[in-house]
This record gives sequence, structure tokens and C-alpha cells, in this order.
Amino acid sequence: MILQRLMAAIREQNWFAVVLELLIVILGIVIGFQVTAWNEDRTARANETQIIERLHSEIIGLGNSRWDWAADRLETRANLLALSHVLYGDGREDVATEISAAGCVAIAQSHVFNSPSLALPVITELESTGDLDLITNRAVRQAITNYLMANAWARELDTAINHEVFNLTADYPTLFHFVPPTEGLDWNPIFDGSVRCDSAAMRTDQAFLNALADNISKSLYFMTGVLDAPNASFTALHAIVDAELGLTHDDGAE
Ligand SMILES: [Zn+2]
Repeated sequence: MILQRLMAAIREQNWFAVVLELLIVILGIVIGFQVTAWNEDRTARANETQIIERLHSEIIGLGNSRWDWAADRLETRANLLALSHVLYGDGREDVATEISAAGCVAIAQSHVFNSPSLALPVITELESTGDLDLITNRAVRQAITNYLMANAWARELDTAINHEVFNLTADYPTLFHFVPPTEGLDWNPIFDGSVRCDSAAMRTDQAFLNALADNISKSLYFMTGVLDAPNASFTALHAIVDAELGLTHDDGAE
């Protein structure tokens, strides 16, 4: 139709009509492209919102096991530090000569360096399909990058820490014994307080003391690198996702 009118205008040498018809054609094409771009943009923004909402539900769904475990590891390290004066003979007279029950449990589990995962399936999916750029919000993108980097470094560090494990109750069996509970089927000897330590023998066993020192050093890197740094990146990501979605958690939940 437009083509017929255009040809007729050219035949009649009506240049005003020719220009007008060409403008109509060009305008139609431009509007067509613009409408397509608007639709694509609207769809992309809807997809991005869906992804961020899913991200939030997965953050919430992670539960408290990770935070409980971090608190437990912090307590174990504090107990190891508290018993160091008892075992390493620095001559302090204000320090007891016997290891406390909590200290003995801390020694027995001093080689345990693992943690509940902070993995978020939606981020793993976007990474594997190369679709992380579906998230255009710069603050969320930056928080995801920080989260990924902190977790990658934590994995490397955890692998290095666990490369050589000093399980002290297994490696130095004469320094420990276990007292099983009189009842109950859930005996958990390393963790439940049924381990007993021979404090005097431990103080004179240099190989044991050196292996324990190794575990105490590892516990520092485990706390800071494997637990604290990824936890901080996770909490920061949650705060930014909350801000993006306009959510608050008045009950103090993570
Ligand atoms: Zn939230």
C-alpha cells in the first residue's frame, strides 16, 4: 500500500509526498524496533526480579546450621587457647595443671575442619549457563562476585588445611581414653564429653604438643578464612538483596 503510494508520488514527481511516504516508512521501522526493545527490556527486568526473589528464598532457606557451626568452632578455638598455658609450660603459677573437661573435648576434635555449605543453587545455575549477566543491578552483582570470591578462597584454604590431618586421639592413643555413657544409643565420643585426657603425659610429649600446635594454628585460618569471610560475604549479599526487594526482617532472622 505504502509502496504503491510512493511509486505513484514518484511518477507524479510529487516530491513532498515522496518525502512524506519515506518518513512514514522510516518512522514505522524505528517504532517497531523501539517496541521490540521495550518488550525485551521489560522481560529482562521481570526475569531479573524473579532471579533475585529466588536468590532471597534460597538465602533464607539455608537455615542456621552454618551459624551454629561457626559459633561451635569459635568456642572450640577459645577452649584450645585457654588450655595452652596448661600444656605448653610457660611457668605461670596462676594456671591449673589439669586440662578442663571442655579443653579435653576441644583437643579431641581439634582436627575437625569442615563446615555446612553456603552454596546457593541459583548462583551455581547462572554460573554454569553463563547467565550471571541477567542480573544487571550493580550492587547485587558486586555482592555476588564478593560472595563467589570469598567462597572460592575458602574452598582452597579448607583443602590446604585438611591436606594433612592430625587426629590426636588416634595418633596418640595413650594420652586419651573414652568413658561411654551408661545409656543412650547416640554416643558421639569425640564431641559429647566422654573423652578423658592425661594432662601430665600430654605436657611431656613433644610430638603431641607440636601436632596440637599445628591444629591450633589451623583453627585460626579456619575461623577467619573458611568461616568468617564467606559468612560476611553471605550476610552482605542478603542485606543487598533485602534492600533491592524492599524487605526487612524485624524478627532478627538472617
Ligand atoms: Zn531477607
